[in-house]
Amino acid sequence: MGDFVNAAEIFGENVFNDTVMQERLPKKVYRKLKEAIAKGEELDLDTADVIAHEMKEWAIEKGASHFTHWFQPLTGVTAEKHDAFITAPMENGKVLMSFSGKELIKGEPDASSFPSGGLRATFEARGYTAWDFTSPAFVRQDAAGGTLCIPTAFCSYKGEALDQKTPLLRSMEAINRQSLRLLQLFGNTTSKKVTPSVGPEQEYFLVDAEKFLQRKDLIYTGRTLFGAMPPKGQEMDDHYFGTIRQRIAGFMKDVNTELWKLGVAAKTQHNEVAPAQHELAPIFAEANVAVDHNQIIMRTLKRIACQHGMKCLLHEKPFAGVNGSGKHNNWSLTTDDGLNLLEPGKTPHENIQFLLVLSCIISAVDRHAGLLRESAADPGNDHRLGANEAPPAIISIFLGEQLEDVVEQLISTGNATSSKSGGKLNTGVRTLPDFLKDATDRNRTSPFAFTGNKFEFRMVGSSDSIGAPNTVLNTIVAEAFCDACDRLETAENFDEAVHDLIKENLIDHQRVIFNGNGYSEEWVQEAEHRGLPNIKSMVDAIPELTSEETVAMFEKFHVFTRAELESRAEVQYENYAKTINIEARAMIDIATKQIVPAVIKYARNLAESINSIQAAGVLEVSVEKELLAETSELLKETHAALKVLIDLDENACAMEEGQTCAKYYHDVVISAMNELRTPVDKLEMIVDKEMWPMPSYGDLIFEV
Ligand code: ADP
Ligand code: MG
Repeated sequence: MGDFVNAAEIFGENVFNDTVMQERLPKKVYRKLKEAIAKGEELDLDTADVIAHEMKEWAIEKGASHFTHWFQPLTGVTAEKHDAFITAPMENGKVLMSFSGKELIKGEPDASSFPSGGLRATFEARGYTAWDFTSPAFVRQDAAGGTLCIPTAFCSYKGEALDQKTPLLRSMEAINRQSLRLLQLFGNTTSKKVTPSVGPEQEYFLVDAEKFLQRKDLIYTGRTLFGAMPPKGQEMDDHYFGTIRQRIAGFMKDVNTELWKLGVAAKTQHNEVAPAQHELAPIFAEANVAVDHNQIIMRTLKRIACQHGMKCLLHEKPFAGVNGSGKHNNWSLTTDDGLNLLEPGKTPHENIQFLLVLSCIISAVDRHAGLLRESAADPGNDHRLGANEAPPAIISIFLGEQLEDVVEQLISTGNATSSKSGGKLNTGVRTLPDFLKDATDRNRTSPFAFTGNKFEFRMVGSSDSIGAPNTVLNTIVAEAFCDACDRLETAENFDEAVHDLIKENLIDHQRVIFNGNGYSEEWVQEAEHRGLPNIKSMVDAIPELTSEETVAMFEKFHVFTRAELESRAEVQYENYAKTINIEARAMIDIATKQIVPAVIKYARNLAESINSIQAAGVLEVSVEKELLAETSELLKETHAALKVLIDLDENACAMEEGQTCAKYYHDVVISAMNELRTPVDKLEMIVDKEMWPMPSYGDLIFEV
């Protein structure tokens, strides 16, 4: 307890970062690496050899025995294969520690069992991992000892992307190029590079490990498949931002310490809306680093939770009826000389460059709303999106009072002449300073909200990689910038042309702007009226990946080829079907082996006590009889629903993988799962708690 952690002292101590490289690499090598990073070029083998050697020496000092190319296949989590730093034993029976440039730059994992959606023919099982030197290597210390993790991209033999990172890096190139064009139009000659900045806020649940282990559904699927609501839920709003309990505080401290050592700038932590739900947000970073860091965060949360006798649930909806978890993906564009393209300044109406950027983003989001929605689709997120808590499944943009006013002026008169100021928020308490009210305001129901100097995409699922959403964001905005530049670069009168373009973008795409309550039924109607897509499920979203518009855009900016997109769609269908299949089978297993026997036992006890009470000459057993009848009835329903689910799941398993199969799971199997859950949850409320085979919702979320 209580040992003090100095963040500044430990920050980045396990990262092969710029400081370490400057210290350890020969000047020439360091310069070459920096140049390659800046220009996005490949490294030559000689340079790589020197870097590999120094990296190895440094890693060994940090206790590393192995290295791994750490990559992010389409499974959504990270993958790694560990190799020890040793050479073949020499004549004297000893080994040397070695690590070559070739090993650093490229690896060839036998990757045949990673999802490829048909991209990699089985005879060519190799995949290639290539070092992404824009994201620093790090040494992870855990039960495996020290492992040097080298962030890498993962491709097929022909260079097709098999991971989250490759397209992300390509999209960063696209947005960089188009942003620079746009800046040059406004006379900027100093900025050399524009990168998307990303800060994801990560939500998660913590439950007691012992209780977790008594729930087969949590073990197999990450969410509860049965469970009656506890007497108390989140209705008291007493958890959100509440005092952090000591057990959780101790966990958070260890998480932060680990993350800081790994160079992840963990910054904010608080309790979330649901009991046992929490959030962690790092300070934003360059998109690809942020994507890697988010993976590190998820893994660290899980690992440290185990050390504290808890389990961290990253599933989007671990408990039906209780607030789910997401990730708010904060996104902006930053130049190498520190400008934020999304910074409106105090008087946005005068900031033409900002208004152009804003109008382009609005047009991009409206044009590709379906694709953006798809980028946040995963099986768990189907339980959140559109279900009155997380953002609705309809993409809309929240601008806040100030910008909405500017946009309205532009649309109605073609000119914006004023900006509403935030105004003071009078607290009514003399000793407190008057707060400046944030003119951009807040709206928690919007899936895509402008929050001061960034957009916050709130649809992403808590367990999902933020790779895909950022790839999409970067590319759709690159396209809008490109269209704008094509027009403005050839305009005779730039001022007039830019003014017209902003107005046109806003008029054409104002339907996507919505500042009201995104959870309301009226919005669903209104959105339909406006022609905005409302894509309710993952299986309905997947076709967005291969629509003609999507393919044309991604091909134009060299982010994805058609084949890569088609393979991704395949992978997604498979992933969906597999997930639901596992859930269905887990339900069948739990119902058959745990719930039905427990209920039978309870019914037998009840029947026996009715007999013995009657034998004792007491005739009044109506309550017991009523309970027994109710139990038997529900048991019958359970048994019938179980049989249906078994049959339907068998049908689904016999189908060929792909869209039809995924749709069958969504339309048919899930309904059968719900049918089974209903009587079981009712039984949980009747059966003696001692006999119920697993901890209840209340036990899980109120007793951590
Ligand atoms: P909130 O009030 O929504 O919690 P914060 O200001 O705390 O907002 O930021 C939430 C996340 O947004 C953090 O990860 C933060 O680093 C990130 N963030 C802040 N500014 C930017 C920016 N300009 N671009 C991208 N992310 C940002
Ligand atoms: Mg936020």
